[in-house]
Amino acid sequence: MKKIYFISTLFVAMILIGAVGSTEGAASERIEINIPDILGYKTLKCDFHLHTVFSDGNVWPGVRVDEAWLQGLDAISITDHIEYRPHKDDIVSDHNRSYEIARARAEQLSLILIKGSEITRDMPPGHLNAIFLKDSNPLDVEDWRDAIRIAHEQGALVFWNHPGWDRQAPGGIAVWYDEHTHLLEQGLMMGLEVANHVSYYPEAYQWAIDKNLAVLANSDSHQPMAHDFQPDKGEFRPYTLVFAEERSAEAIRKAMLDRRTAAVFQGKIMGDSRFLEAIFKESVTLEVSSVSIKGQGGTAVQVHNASDIDFRLVAGKSDCSLQVPGEITLSDGKTAVMGVRGTSDTMSGRKTVPISYGVETLLVGPGESLPVTLELEVEFIPLEQQ
Ligand code: ZN
Repeated sequence: MKKIYFISTLFVAMILIGAVGSTEGAASERIEINIPDILGYKTLKCDFHLHTVFSDGNVWPGVRVDEAWLQGLDAISITDHIEYRPHKDDIVSDHNRSYEIARARAEQLSLILIKGSEITRDMPPGHLNAIFLKDSNPLDVEDWRDAIRIAHEQGALVFWNHPGWDRQAPGGIAVWYDEHTHLLEQGLMMGLEVANHVSYYPEAYQWAIDKNLAVLANSDSHQPMAHDFQPDKGEFRPYTLVFAEERSAEAIRKAMLDRRTAAVFQGKIMGDSRFLEAIFKESVTLEVSSVSIKGQGGTAVQVHNASDIDFRLVAGKSDCSLQVPGEITLSDGKTAVMGVRGTSDTMSGRKTVPISYGVETLLVGPGESLPVTLELEVEFIPLEQQ
């Protein structure tokens, strides 16, 4: 009897430990996002714009951490609105609480959690996120200028959210106001979202390039992530790549100040050519670098893409000694065959042929594909030698 009692007590205890050990629920298997480290930096995947029940979201803070971990992110910022808290009669707390609740779960999962808040004002200046805050409560002031100044004094970074949001930008076209010039000139605004949730703002992307602002893409999710984006249907939240010296909050802050970011949105990456080119070079390899071609005959060159980004290539102005596909897609994690063909029966000798493409999924400006060159060593054999 005693033994049975002991075993059943142990069993109940195990169930309880199991329950306590998974207080936040669902985390099980994390997917990894394969985008290579480049130029000596770690490529960190980050979402700096998320809401919880502590503002107008419908999600508990710890769940945001689980969602981000499951989807392969390295860092998030929960940025509940300072000024808009429709659940405040039920969720009675100060502005730091959602961060404090999420922090324990973030520590368990080694997810970098950055304290943030959304300064939520009419246009101009619209909505701005302050991240790397020390204390969100002092941002609850009447004048937005004071809120931004206080954030800045705490060492926070401030960026402009969804500049082309149609409720603040008629027709969904972003407008740059004097207030933004003022923030920029005072060093109070370091970046802007070129993509937010399901929207992309090409005009904001151009401003980021012209005014040296960090490009960001964030989910701004208010609902459970699975309601907004379903990875098994090819949908993924927008996120920001940060090229950081190490995987830490301070390294992320430093990288953002140095404009080492890129924006990932609906299968495309937007950012400076030095980062995008490095991502392409680290991801794509020719399985053979040397082939021989007889006359106008052809051969196959296998091209492997180790990343999780599909590279859609469209031929640029190429060397006339080889005929190459006008378009080729290098799908994520796969190997494609590129058929190449000679253009002359008489050509002879060994030559390195540059094959030029524009990558439509790597945008160095609005609608501007990254130019890349694949180099293939070719031994040309004239027909009469056969
Ligand atoms: Zn928001």
